[in-house]
Amino acid sequence: MSSHFRKKIDLINIFNSIDKLKGIGPRYSEIFQKKIGSRIIDLILYLPTKCIQTYENTSIRLAKHGDLITVVVYIIEIDIRSSFYKRKIPSKIITFGTKEEKNIRLDIVYYNMKSNYLKDLYKINEKYIVSGKFENNKGIAQITHPHYVYPFEQKSLLPEFDTQYRLFSGINKKVLKKLVKVSLSHLPNFPDWISNNTVKRFKFLNWKDTIYRLHHPKSKNDLLEDGFLLTRLAFDELLANYISIKILKNKILFSKNETIFKDNSLDKFINSLPFKLTNDQKKAIEEINLDLSKHEPMLRLLQGDVGCGKTIVALCSMLKVFKSGYQSLIMAPTEILAKQHYNTIKSFLKLEKIEPLLILGKGKIENDILKKNLGLIKDGTSKIIIGTHALISKNIEFKNLKLAVIDEQHRFGVNQRIALVEKGQNVNLLVMSATPIPRSLALTSYGDMSITNLKNKPAGRQKIKTSTISSKKINKLYEGLKRQLLKDSLIYWVCPTIDESKENNLISIEQRYKKLKNTFKEIEISVAHGKQDIKERENSINDFKFGRSKILLATTVIEVGVDVPNADIIVIECSERYGLSQLHQLRGRVGRNNKKSNCILLYDDGISVMAKQRLRTLRNLDDGFEIAEEDLLLRGPGEILGTKQSGMNNFRFVNFQHHDHLIDFAKKEAGVLFDNKKENQDKIDNLLEIYQKQIEFDNLGG
Ligand code: ADP
Ligand code: MG
Repeated sequence: MSSHFRKKIDLINIFNSIDKLKGIGPRYSEIFQKKIGSRIIDLILYLPTKCIQTYENTSIRLAKHGDLITVVVYIIEIDIRSSFYKRKIPSKIITFGTKEEKNIRLDIVYYNMKSNYLKDLYKINEKYIVSGKFENNKGIAQITHPHYVYPFEQKSLLPEFDTQYRLFSGINKKVLKKLVKVSLSHLPNFPDWISNNTVKRFKFLNWKDTIYRLHHPKSKNDLLEDGFLLTRLAFDELLANYISIKILKNKILFSKNETIFKDNSLDKFINSLPFKLTNDQKKAIEEINLDLSKHEPMLRLLQGDVGCGKTIVALCSMLKVFKSGYQSLIMAPTEILAKQHYNTIKSFLKLEKIEPLLILGKGKIENDILKKNLGLIKDGTSKIIIGTHALISKNIEFKNLKLAVIDEQHRFGVNQRIALVEKGQNVNLLVMSATPIPRSLALTSYGDMSITNLKNKPAGRQKIKTSTISSKKINKLYEGLKRQLLKDSLIYWVCPTIDESKENNLISIEQRYKKLKNTFKEIEISVAHGKQDIKERENSINDFKFGRSKILLATTVIEVGVDVPNADIIVIECSERYGLSQLHQLRGRVGRNNKKSNCILLYDDGISVMAKQRLRTLRNLDDGFEIAEEDLLLRGPGEILGTKQSGMNNFRFVNFQHHDHLIDFAKKEAGVLFDNKKENQDKIDNLLEIYQKQIEFDNLGG
């Protein structure tokens, strides 16, 4: 490779694809894209979860199997095997300790290591510093594949703190660290978007130094959530959030124009529905109608616990817009959900003789039907449009979009909301969420957006009976379920992972399927998870919906919005692993008609007091708002970092237990940046680029 090419690589932009990194082949690239993100910045923000003091254990004699030790040794013998011929026999470096341990032997062992590398590294009779995992091999102390080895005089190269990252299959520690290192070498010196005053007040470092230090901690406290490093990232993230909201509001509120809807009554439609609307639903529809008739476009959040019936509220509003001759759309986070909405809406609209239109796919114009449909949207023939985020795609032009509804809005980023609003002029925006947002979060995420709450459930709904059962008693559960299946129950069964993996010993769909098949011999079981293609997953869910299978074994892909009214039992394995709000969402898959329903939370015996407390909360509460508040309170420190947030909190670094006090400062700072946005454009762009991670769709919940 020419030096010219080299130079180019050195100037890589951290917002570029991870593929641009040196040393990342297609295989790693694919894994990273799936697990971490597709851009270099995503890797840079993949922070260590822990750091271990390298010099905590420095004695061979006192070390226990599995300890991380760092010792100074003399090389006595070097026995190098060519890796090519004798894979099974390791190369071995025999050493002895120093000072009072000079009679204690320690072997450094390598499997499959290039012999030249070892020959270059080790010299007999020299002193080395070695750090790695201590093993006791039949009485002989050894370290296999040490984490670090340096000739003694270079011992300053050994980091004082060794970082640990959450790993996943296909990526080991070495590879991850190497790639993090490469990506860090591209860290640019951004002009700081946080003002000097704020930086001083919170004793922040600049962004680059913060990131670097998190990957190379100098103290154990460096990775604490309330430490000055992670607090800086939390501040940035809040700042990015507030700026996005400002941009969004600006887009909506500054495009004033005549937007008055004629007073078209919905009474006939509402009377034709197969059920009576709840009072909250009626109130919500009225509020929205009022918004729609105002001069400035609506920006409203419709919050309603699972099963409250948000879809029909949205549809009434869409119908109102329709009757004034304009277009409206509803965007859902997954194809399954979009199709479900399409089918529901289609059947509701039959009497009105209105044909809704469904748009799926990733926005590529793939075939004639899609082309035709895009035409129908462009010329205004189609007025009620349902789809996934494909609706945002550039190919889609609307004639006169006036209302955009976003379902399960927490699955979408602010960017996507902005993109949607830009699809028309004076677009009214209604975002819906089944994950009630605790007050503190509502303030941060929505600012002064208007909020409508649907509190009451449709009449006749029964409380879901929730029980917690130790996974040891699963056989008893089987017996109970057998009886229920005879009474035509439909059972969701939720597993934490899809296939067996080495990373954890969580029960997988694969294993559970075998067990269930064995236990319920005559019963059809269908399977749904994120690795299936959409068609397959959809068929599974439909089989279950129409009773062709009695059990739907699934990952949390079913968490959002899947509506199978007849399902009456949900079993959630490893329930301790989920947040309360997420469990509440999952539980909301049952109890969707007037049948008695059950939710069974299986837990591992070894779970913490905190986790038990959580599950108990869920057993006792069934109001999503209360649960969300409780969830926020119960989330222990450390649970936010590295854990994929589900439901109510899209933040990566913000944890309101520790970062509440930043809110006002971040808001103010966002105001200043935004008010001078011309001169701050670069800063704003960088900030948003860094902290607004694109959300992966149609692969939710693994
Ligand atoms: P969510 O608020 O969770 O999105 P949905 O809109 O999917 O809830 O509604 C849940 C179920 O309740 C659907 O089958 C819907 O048709 C039904 N539903 C909605 N409103 C009422 C009502 N007022 N009475 C009875 N059933 C209703
Ligand atoms: Mg819904």
